[in-house]
Amino acid sequence: MSSLRPTIDFLLHDWLQVEGLTARPRFADHSRETFAAVLDTCERIAREKYAPFNRLVDTEEPRFDGEKVILPKATHEAHDAYVASGMLSAAQDYEEGGMQLPYAVEAAASTFFATASVSIGGGLLTKGNANLLMVHGTEAQKAVFARNEFSGRFSGTMALSEPQAGSSLSDITTRATPDGPDFAADPLGPRYRLKGNKMWISAGEHELAENIVHLVLAKIPGPDGKLIPGTRGISLFIVPKKLVDTEGRLTGERNDVALAGLNHKLGWRGTTNTLLNFGEGRYPVRGAPGAIGYLVGKPHEGLRCMFHMMNEARIGIGLAATALGLAGYYASLDYARNRPQGRPVGLRPTSRPETGSGASAAGKDPAQPQVRIIEHADIKRMLLAQKSYCEGALALLLHCARLVDEQHTGTPEAAEEARLLLEVLTPVAKSWPSEFCLEANSLAIQVHGGYGYTRDFPVEQYWRDNRLNMIHEGTHGIQAADLLGRKVVMEGGKGLALLAARVNATIERAIGQPHLAEHANALAQALQKVGAATKAAWATGDPAEALANAVPYMQAFGHLVIAWTWLDLLLVPPATDGAAAAEGRSRAARYFFHYELPKIGAWLRVVETRDPTCATMPEDAF
Ligand SMILES: Cc1cc2nc3c(=O)[nH]c(=O)nc-3n(C[C@H](O)[C@H](O)[C@H](O)COP(=O)(O)OP(=O)(O)OC[C@H]3O[C@@H](n4cnc5c(N)ncnc54)[C@H](O)[C@@H]3O)c2cc1C
Repeated sequence: MSSLRPTIDFLLHDWLQVEGLTARPRFADHSRETFAAVLDTCERIAREKYAPFNRLVDTEEPRFDGEKVILPKATHEAHDAYVASGMLSAAQDYEEGGMQLPYAVEAAASTFFATASVSIGGGLLTKGNANLLMVHGTEAQKAVFARNEFSGRFSGTMALSEPQAGSSLSDITTRATPDGPDFAADPLGPRYRLKGNKMWISAGEHELAENIVHLVLAKIPGPDGKLIPGTRGISLFIVPKKLVDTEGRLTGERNDVALAGLNHKLGWRGTTNTLLNFGEGRYPVRGAPGAIGYLVGKPHEGLRCMFHMMNEARIGIGLAATALGLAGYYASLDYARNRPQGRPVGLRPTSRPETGSGASAAGKDPAQPQVRIIEHADIKRMLLAQKSYCEGALALLLHCARLVDEQHTGTPEAAEEARLLLEVLTPVAKSWPSEFCLEANSLAIQVHGGYGYTRDFPVEQYWRDNRLNMIHEGTHGIQAADLLGRKVVMEGGKGLALLAARVNATIERAIGQPHLAEHANALAQALQKVGAATKAAWATGDPAEALANAVPYMQAFGHLVIAWTWLDLLLVPPATDGAAAAEGRSRAARYFFHYELPKIGAWLRVVETRDPTCATMPEDAF
């Protein structure tokens, strides 16, 4: 983790100037020093309680003893240290026991945990769950559930997916029916009985907290008793594992939520992943089967409420993917600096002419000492690729987090602009790091050679852990369809136009500087190409044609955004983190502009021609 902190400090202070936020009333008690204290604490906990146990939580998978899910002791200790740090409620108001910390700083702090051990977890689900309740819950729901989650007494889940309904949530079949004639009068919210199965629920069962607050999507049947088709029928419920009273005390009653089984995952094994049965009668409540759930918000508006949590979660997933990419980068950089192998290619004077200049040119002159692999151009290529992907992604994500702060505390105009930019950038912030920081992990394995393919080195685990991120929180394909199908065209294309204006502003600042002019021109061309491809994709107005190549579009769009981010980073006036760091950024940006940005031509070609190769492939020809 050696260079993570300086990188974060540079991004937060030199680039995003988060200290400026302290001029706003909400953050007035903060200063660069208080931000540093938070980062110091998180860095220390991650170093002491997370990093040493990353392999342990991979090998000691969660197991069910028939009654309880058992997690390693180290997971409990890391969880307790995290709760004690106050990070679960860091962004909350002082009255809520929070620190009123800007989200940009909170997000930066979370990367220490994810880099050290992503699957021990940094409370992402619990925070998201409680944040949602603070926005959509009643006062009683906030007091009983959200506040106990912020304090770490309870933990939270989001239970959307079902065995037959993942990407297509409109097809969920979990059903919620009013619980008795007085159902609407329950002080914790309209009370329903839920029945159904939820698949893939992260942290769905464990003993880390006193209680688990499931946020569950379910359908309230219409007057004919049938489930309303589509997303319109979906409502949101709080379903606690153990029932509580209005003071948040456990009543001693177990709710009818049963663990049907643990999923055995490729990676991210420190977090349990569960199939949960709701309302099967395993734990009848008050003499009847059916899990008790309290409605959040209005009936049939569940997905809208849940989106509140999903957007936050998406930035969190992008950060996790980035942190894993960085972990692999640091590990492979360290390895490359120490591994002697091979000799330099090229003609060098040799004291043994009999070996011939051919051997020397081919790097096979045994008279020459071996070099460390970091001296080979190809290893440098792989390290530069990792650096440019992961540090570029980190910058983008912290920028998004800073936009969240703007949305919450900026002037009305600035808040509106931040909202629009986040609409367009969120699918990219989730997906681009999930793909390219995973590729970084693959390169980290490659740098290690055969050792990278073994469990004696950490890089294979980083790759396995990271492989999840293209799948959950909206798969890659679904995010791409969201970007091209909705985000760049919504509100008359306002979000895309605003992003283009921001990119152009960076280009204008860079174009006059001789050392940046080449990048600025390349970025201008890329922007023009993405704009043209967006129009061409939608030229016939047929979504089937436009979206057939949505993933290549998202790859190109993401590369544009990362190239813009890199150029903007190079515009920071003399940075405070030293000449080597500045040189590193300049080289990583150059790598990205020379080796990566040109790829968008191929990606966009199929988009703008609405290439039907994939869409029209006959199934029986596979
Ligand atoms: C480890 C893990 C943790 C998870 N945690 C949670 C959690 O805490 N809570 C929760 O609710 N869920 C969770 N999930 C579920 C996750 O969100 C789903 O796996 C994901 O949404 C995909 O759903 P699916 O698995 O049913 O795949 P499917 O939806 O069946 O998708 C299979 C493939 O088809 C593609 N596809 C599907 N529909 C379309 C379409 N219309 N157009 C183009 N392509 C399409 C997808 O992109 C994907 O490549 C988790 C999953 C995993 C693996």
